[in-house]
Amino acid sequence: MTQLTESVAKLIDELARLPGIGRKSAERLAYHILRISKAEALALADAIRAVRENVRYCRTCFSLAESDECAICSDVRRDRSLLCVVEQPRDVMAVEQSGAYRGLYHVLLGRIAPLEGIGPDQLTVEALVQRVRGGSFREVIMATNPTVEGDGTALYISNRLADLPVNFTRLARGITPGGILEYTNKEILADALADRRKF
Ligand SMILES: [Zn+2]
Repeated sequence: MTQLTESVAKLIDELARLPGIGRKSAERLAYHILRISKAEALALADAIRAVRENVRYCRTCFSLAESDECAICSDVRRDRSLLCVVEQPRDVMAVEQSGAYRGLYHVLLGRIAPLEGIGPDQLTVEALVQRVRGGSFREVIMATNPTVEGDGTALYISNRLADLPVNFTRLARGITPGGILEYTNKEILADALADRRKF
């Protein structure tokens, strides 16, 4: 076996840690990076650095932001009476791509998963409760994933806020049970939003 240089071996090791990248793919990517121009390779490295240095969680909704507040929270054209609760920042992107929603979001940064020891305290549930109590939302749409844990999380949150005069709705089940929002095509997601019903 040919001896790799230390730098190449290190790059392959790092790439192989990425989800869905096996050893073989990591090697292929590493050799690709060696073949492209230095400028292209450094642009990739800079993009990784920038994302880690500049991106943080929005202080209001916990979606991704490059300043204290994300682009959606600071957009005055959004409907501030609607709040859509999702598990992950990437779910915000999925709902946005449906084009069917113009309200605000709240990202839980996970879901309640007792078997994995994840309780409400490890999520942004408390911030959500404060936000809904202090806000003027007329509807809170629970858009957690249609899985046992996603449903349980939605139920927990709606119980916590049950005393408020807010309409709780849940996405309609156009989404396959056990499916993941991120992988749902935008038409199905748009239907599910349009047909949302009382929780
Ligand atoms: Zn935000």
